Amino acid sequence: PLKTDGTESTSDERRRRIGVLTSGGDSPGMNAAVRAIVRVAISRGCEAYAIFEGYEGLVQGGNMIRKFGWGDVRGYLSIGGTLIGTARCNTFRTREGRLKAACNLVKNGIDALIICGGDGSLTGADILRSEWSGLLEELIREGRLTQEEAAPFTHLVIVGMVGSIDNDMSSTDLTIGAVTSLHRICEAVDNISSTASSHSRAFVIEVMGRYCGWLALMAAVSTSADFVFIPERPPSADDWESEMCEILKRHRKLGKRKTIVIVAEGAIDKNLNPIKASYIKELLINRVGLDTRVTCLGHTQRGGRPCVYDRNLATRQGVEAVEAVLRSTADTPSPMIGIRENKITCQPLVEAVKLTQQAAIAIGKKDFRRAMELRDPEFEEDYNAYVATTIIDDNSKVLPEHQRLRIGIIHIGAPAGGMNPATHAAARIALNCGHIPLAIQNGFPGLLDDDVYELSWIGVDGWTTKGGSELGTNRTEPNIDLGMIAYKFQKHRIEALLMIGGFEAFSSLVTLTAARDKYPAFCIPMVCLPATISNNVPGTDFSLGCDTSLNAIVDSCDAIKQSASASRRRVFVVETQGGKCGYLAVLAGLAVGATSVYIPEKGVSLKTLQSDINHLTRRFGEDKKRTSSGRLILRNECVSNTYTTSLIADIFETEGRGLFDCRTCVLGHIQQGSSPSPLDRIRAVRLAVKCINFLEKHALSSLADDASSTRPKVFNNQKESAAVIGILGAHVDFSPVVDLVQETDMNNRVSKKAWWLKLKGLVELLSKWGYTEDHL
Ligand code: ATP
Repeated sequence: PLKTDGTESTSDERRRRIGVLTSGGDSPGMNAAVRAIVRVAISRGCEAYAIFEGYEGLVQGGNMIRKFGWGDVRGYLSIGGTLIGTARCNTFRTREGRLKAACNLVKNGIDALIICGGDGSLTGADILRSEWSGLLEELIREGRLTQEEAAPFTHLVIVGMVGSIDNDMSSTDLTIGAVTSLHRICEAVDNISSTASSHSRAFVIEVMGRYCGWLALMAAVSTSADFVFIPERPPSADDWESEMCEILKRHRKLGKRKTIVIVAEGAIDKNLNPIKASYIKELLINRVGLDTRVTCLGHTQRGGRPCVYDRNLATRQGVEAVEAVLRSTADTPSPMIGIRENKITCQPLVEAVKLTQQAAIAIGKKDFRRAMELRDPEFEEDYNAYVATTIIDDNSKVLPEHQRLRIGIIHIGAPAGGMNPATHAAARIALNCGHIPLAIQNGFPGLLDDDVYELSWIGVDGWTTKGGSELGTNRTEPNIDLGMIAYKFQKHRIEALLMIGGFEAFSSLVTLTAARDKYPAFCIPMVCLPATISNNVPGTDFSLGCDTSLNAIVDSCDAIKQSASASRRRVFVVETQGGKCGYLAVLAGLAVGATSVYIPEKGVSLKTLQSDINHLTRRFGEDKKRTSSGRLILRNECVSNTYTTSLIADIFETEGRGLFDCRTCVLGHIQQGSSPSPLDRIRAVRLAVKCINFLEKHALSSLADDASSTRPKVFNNQKESAAVIGILGAHVDFSPVVDLVQETDMNNRVSKKAWWLKLKGLVELLSKWGYTEDHL
């Protein structure tokens, strides 16, 4: 068999029997993990076994351990929780329990286990592995296994995947399920916000997280809550009650009609006393005079239907988990599959678990600095960004007069989820530093019309949750009248520029930078923050808006798939946007389990269509019991002028010869989504804060240090001062725009580096295509 990266597998890789179990609290995305593990295992020549009810099934054996075929995981992607069940199993904590588990593994011929669960589950797995040879010896001694039975099982391969809504595992940025849980929390807080505003009320919202404040903090960032309490960072003031009340009063004085306080269930003060929602409620009533209610979100946070991020994270990690099984030897430590920004990682499981447990210990010892360090690297940054963009500051961060800048903020291109949250964060942090954020309305034409105004702290309130573009945006680029644009920069004394938008924002930055020689007005720091659903801007793996869009597409595709479930013999050709970039089609295809994706990067031909018709005919033919719920083909809007969506559907309908019929669906502007997804909101805040720091750094480096001298003009024509901010692999970086031009296909308006292109093969693999198909 071929590997998932398309290379030949080596002969020393054993055909393993891989068991998969889900354990601990359920989390959305666990099913996607099981699906990927089962299907990749089968396509790599292994056998897959589902172990039901977590370790309970392993201990009990019998019917709890079942061989899974390709069709057993059909429909798994869109279902929340775990379909193979989970349980807390105390017997497995005992040696007798693990003896039974080992015996059942050997009897079923399973020599590798992939566990998806929290730190407890992974600890249990590693204990099983470390005791393995002793357990087998004991089983032989007691006559429960024969020498011959045990002989092939010299060691047990363990691979961990982290499924947990809490995102409490060290050494990985995100755990499977956390983002879906955050979706549910943000939906709830957004809903509560409208009633809070209507009645001018305060709400204290309790969210899950006993030792880990990730959900609470990210919910606060995503909804721009007024205050947040998390276990890792108790309020520093002795009299935190007064401090909080003062901040909330200040927010009200500025004109806020609602007050939202988010409390993690494990929130504590610096002496480890619990901070409870009911206590905060009393403070808000008695000391701030607010009509206050408490909402405990409870089990709704377990998530339900998984969001796109969790489906794709679980799928990508499931692939890596099988590969890790096949790579492993008796000497390799058990790995845990994780993710760093956009890179799937594989690290020693024991160390990750140890680090995770240290966080709770650090909190217990009041070593809160250490507790913060033990979270993912962005956690502290996000906390600081939250404080800087949400809590109005008491002037402690204001820069000296001569260092304060007039920062233009402009939206360019089509609207995308995340544009408003980014503008909100940029304006607020700028204001907290004493800068003047200038809204340039309606893009460059707006600038030419002097449609420019100063943003205020309260003026951007509520933008975190708004989709579209509050500033107004259009596709016009500055080359409509460069000279006049330069004049307007001077007129409005713009000393730094934040451009939020898609490919037009990128090419506008290219144009302005190239014109620096001619127009000194452009010799100011300028940064492009990519925001477009197409995700076609060079210099970043993700642009703002693409996560929102993917969720909108996948919501629609799930509904479309369901509509086909009645006939069970239907193919839908769904047309997605994205211009000449196939990102949306591929990533949505991965999340809905599409049969094929047609994208401009690969093209579509008669041969492709014929090959897909053969595949569909075979798949529908195999499905005698009619268990499939319809199949999807995702076609990017620009893949071909000839093979239009309707033509493809007509060809499929005709060639299906009654075995299946075919329908089309053009998703159109639904794909922009409504409210930005939590991930887009978080990314927007994180990146916008970095952008303002970038602009400040490159502006101030060009100013004289001497505060008494007359304020010189900002002048910076270094190439580093005109850049695109991006998430690149495991890092967030600024790339000078002039360097990025080389890696850009300016005609087709796409980056030549498309990290996601390899996932197209995975979409096809998971819908039972082999890698040998010639159209790949
Ligand atoms: P969550 O984050 O949702 O709590 P978890 O995996 O940490 O998930 P636990 O209840 O701690 O949840 O563990 C799940 C199961 O893993 C336990 O019921 C038990 O069967 C097994 N397990 C946990 N810790 C150990 C251990 N130290 N030794 C053996 N088995 C363990």
